[in-house]
Parts: sequence; C-alpha cells; structure tokens
Amino acid sequence: MKKIILTVSMLLIVFSSWAIAAQEELVVYSARKEHLIKDLFEKYEKEQGVKIKYITGKAAVLLQRILSEGKNTSADILLTVDAGNLWHAAQKKVLSPVKSQILNHNIPAHYKDPENRWFGLSVRARTIVYNTDKVKKEDLSSYEALAGDEWKDRLLLRTSKKVYNQSLVAMLIATLGEDKTRSIVSGWVNNLAAPPYSSDTKALEAIAVGQGDVGIVNTYYYARLMKKNPNLPLEIFWADQAGKGVHVNVSGAGVIKHSQKIGQAVKFLEWLSEKEAQKIFADANMEFPVNEAVAPHDYVRGWGKFKESTMNLAKAGELQARAIKLMDMEGYK
Ligand code: FE
Repeated sequence: MKKIILTVSMLLIVFSSWAIAAQEELVVYSARKEHLIKDLFEKYEKEQGVKIKYITGKAAVLLQRILSEGKNTSADILLTVDAGNLWHAAQKKVLSPVKSQILNHNIPAHYKDPENRWFGLSVRARTIVYNTDKVKKEDLSSYEALAGDEWKDRLLLRTSKKVYNQSLVAMLIATLGEDKTRSIVSGWVNNLAAPPYSSDTKALEAIAVGQGDVGIVNTYYYARLMKKNPNLPLEIFWADQAGKGVHVNVSGAGVIKHSQKIGQAVKFLEWLSEKEAQKIFADANMEFPVNEAVAPHDYVRGWGKFKESTMNLAKAGELQARAIKLMDMEGYK
C-alpha cells in the first residue's frame, strides 16, 4: 500500500511539474541567427523561469510557415530582421497589436509599428564605407551624392534583391520623392565598378582590395570584417548628416495573433527592451540598442555620433513594392 501511495504521489509530482513546464514556455520563430539569440534566451529562462524554444530560418519562410499553420501554430513570437519584413508580417495579419507602456517607453516611436504590431529591438545603420587609400572623407556627403559623375566606375553595391536595399530605397522615396530617388538609383547603376554583390561582406571585401572605392553597407558587417582583419583600408562615413540623416533599420519582433500566451509573450518582449537585455542583444551583432538609455559597444561607439533618419520605418514596408519596381526599371540588379 505504502509503495502504491509513493508511486502515485511521485507520478503526481512528475505530472504537475510537467504541466508547469509545458505552460512556462514560449516559442520564437527567429530570422535572427541562433548565435545572436541563444545566450539571451537562456538568460531569460534562468531569470524568469520561462523556457524560450526557438526555430531559426529565413524571414519569408518563417512567415509562410506561420500563415500555413494558422490557428495551430506553436509560434508565440516572430523575431525577424528589417522593418520591411516586420511590415509584411503585420500586413499578412499574423501579428497581434500590443499595448505596453514599457515597450512604448523603451522604444522610440519611429522604430515601431504605428499600430503596435511590431517593435524594433536593435538598430542597424546602413551607411557609406570607403577605401581610405582612394577616397578622402571630405569628398563624401550623402547617398544621393554617390550618383554623381565623380563616382563613375567607383561604386560597389549589394544586390537590389536584398530587403536591406529595398528598405533603403523605400526610405529615399519617403524622404526625397519618387523622381529624385529614380535619378539617384539611375546614377548609382551608372557608377557601378562591378555588378552588385550577393552580400554586404563581399562588397566590403571588394572595396578593401580596390575593386571599387565606396559602397553602402550595414555597419555590423564592417565590424565583423574589421575584427577579422583590422588592417583593411576601410572606414565608415555617416551619410546625409546635412540632410535627413543616416538610413537606419531594425531587427525586431511581434506577438503572434494565434498565440495562446499573448500576455507571456508581451512580457518577454518587454524584457528584451530593458537595459540589460538590450546591451546583450545589440552587442552580440555590433548593432545599436533601440533603447536610448543603453550605450552601444565601445567599438561601435568608436565610430562616433551621427544623426539618424527619424522617419517611421513602416514606410520601408509601405513603399517596398514601389522601391523594387523603381530599382528594376533603372537596371539595378
Ligand atoms: Fe544582415
């Protein structure tokens, strides 16, 4: 009898802890790479007792998966890169609007959806990088200026198929208008020293070896390359400082509409927007914390202060289709 009671009570303990474990768990579908999120997610589990399970994949694939899983999705949060992708997820109605004073306080308005369906969590700057042996800093100014004749056969770009460039051009349309942007893109294409590259890193490497003199990249790729090879003749230049400021974008997240744990998911996003998590989240990829109370990594700070564009990033999504069409018409491959 004693034995039975013991077994039953042990089973109860097992079942009840299993039930708690099953409840205290969130699932993140992440287009942000595993090595950039793993430690942070484990920290949340240790601190808050909520396990963060995740799968990683390409942004479009994850969105498609959430759509096809519909109400049966196990995803509670979509974490992805680029406001263009976040905007798409919101358009496809997979994200739930979130009311949170903490998120509103920690995240500047231009880094989140005006309808609160997605929130930027780290900021990436897409700016000019140049070969210091071939270009004087004084000769640089704006994205627009790189369309000028003096840059003929000197410019290197990444492919227009990448959402980063689609967002950049969309934001140019938003700030300068379609006609002006068309002439900028046309000028860029005229000035190319080589066909567009498949990655920012390849463009940077080509600038470093003098295949071209100047390019437009996300600064964390510059950080990665310089860490490997600090002697490369490459330098960052903050674009458009006399104009609207550097084109910035975010990696960010939203809560899945069909999540059974919306409250828990919001808490996790709030935690990610607070100081300690922000530091880890941004530093892991040499990005800028979205929470302005948090300082970037010393190395990133070494690039100096700059003015950023404060146009709401939802525009990157809204104008994406027009940006793609414009680049296609101007022959930007
Ligand atoms: Fe990237």
